[in-house]
Amino acid sequence: MRFSGWRILKEGLTGNSGWTPQWRDPEPKEAYDIVIIGGGGHGLSTAYYLAREHGLRNVAVLEKGWIGGGNVGRNTTIVRANYGLPGNSEFYSHSLKLWEGLEQELNYNVMFSQRGVINLYHSDGQRDAFVRRGNAMVNQGDDAILLDRAALRRKLPYLDFDTARFPVLGGLYHPRGGTARHDAVAWGYARGADSRGVDLIQNCEVTGIDIDAGRVTGVQTSRGAIRAGKVGIVVAGRSSQVAAMAGLRLPIESHVLQAFVTEGLKPVIDQVVTFGMGHFYISQSDKGGLVFGGDLDGYASYAQRGNLPLVEHVMEAGMALMPMIGKARVLRSWGGIMDMSPDGSPVIDRTGIEGLYLNCGWCYGGFKAVPASGHCFAHLLATDRPHAAAAGFRLDRFRSGEGIMDEEATGAQHNLH
Ligand SMILES: Cc1cc2nc3c(=O)[nH]c(=O)nc-3n(C[C@H](O)[C@H](O)[C@H](O)COP(=O)(O)OP(=O)(O)OC[C@H]3O[C@@H](n4cnc5c(N)ncnc54)[C@H](O)[C@@H]3O)c2cc1C
Repeated sequence: MRFSGWRILKEGLTGNSGWTPQWRDPEPKEAYDIVIIGGGGHGLSTAYYLAREHGLRNVAVLEKGWIGGGNVGRNTTIVRANYGLPGNSEFYSHSLKLWEGLEQELNYNVMFSQRGVINLYHSDGQRDAFVRRGNAMVNQGDDAILLDRAALRRKLPYLDFDTARFPVLGGLYHPRGGTARHDAVAWGYARGADSRGVDLIQNCEVTGIDIDAGRVTGVQTSRGAIRAGKVGIVVAGRSSQVAAMAGLRLPIESHVLQAFVTEGLKPVIDQVVTFGMGHFYISQSDKGGLVFGGDLDGYASYAQRGNLPLVEHVMEAGMALMPMIGKARVLRSWGGIMDMSPDGSPVIDRTGIEGLYLNCGWCYGGFKAVPASGHCFAHLLATDRPHAAAAGFRLDRFRSGEGIMDEEATGAQHNLH
């Protein structure tokens, strides 16, 4: 079924009786060419591009819960290509370009809104770092504009410029960044993959990975054994646990990240605003809710909910930056499990086991990566060669130190040692 304005009109006039389920609910087959473990954004986009770009349709996505129940439906929906380091910048640039054509390609309204992302700076040193980052973005072919304090005040008049915890001196503006409706992205890719023959199997937890003579042969699941020529692990916060089923110990730690939404308000925040010094970021959903979040919970955990100290911290940071949000009532908060890598950059690579592939380490930034991650992982699975845009996301960089991509410069910097 194709979606269109005419279709909506027709259904509106005929009692909405013609809509059909967006994807099938198949029984698992005994064997597939490729099994993807994890029906989040990355697993679904991988399956979609395997079918669309490589003609591989004997593919299953195994999801232990339901489509959209993981981080893909829990994030704060920010999409951007404002990375500064080679390796990351070409990948996120590739992703943003895929986002720009996504709704047409999937024939699905993912409510992609290029409303702009503004990163605030609060010191001369931070401004210098943002100038450098902005230049890297422009060199990559993306857009970046440095706003001084006066220009920023015109765009964001509601910020507390003068008495905030940190003085607000300006911002790095990325006009092509923005937001998208997160679960619609999962549904759009699910529908696209299903319509090309991929089996999306929900309520199917992978409990074991079968390996024979160094080669993967299939998986054990809560719905029985499934044989597979190749297996891709794409389970975000559960990466270490699932990889351990194949005897792999990953350099990944899982932490909870929380987010919050207020009651619906009239339009007040036009862009995505990030306040790195205070660990706070915010945008306004199309329904009017202020959607915001902050830092990770400080301890490793698989609990899909947060704790109160972080709630207090995020609220404090929000109030310090824009005291007007103190009048809004918070409706809900929730948490998702982040797959944190040592350098904050992901892994899209083969493993030492023949036929077993890994896609993980997205930390708190993997939503914007969904299109490119699936595109590049599908390329790797289909051709056994890394896609040029993701060639730096090697697993062995954590062992060798070679090619570490530490965007936040908070971890090891390989060329200093
Ligand atoms: C609060 C919050 C805010 C965020 N904000 C942003 C943001 O603004 N911008 C951004 O770019 N990123 C953001 N992120 C990060 C982003 O959401 C994640 O990096 C990304 O969604 C992870 O990839 P995924 O969609 O494939 O993960 P998921 O949706 O978690 O998919 C993994 C799937 O694997 C399944 N699974 C796990 N174990 C098994 C098993 N044994 N068998 C079968 N299936 C299994 C899970 O059930 C799950 O559905 C945020 C995350 C959170 C939680």
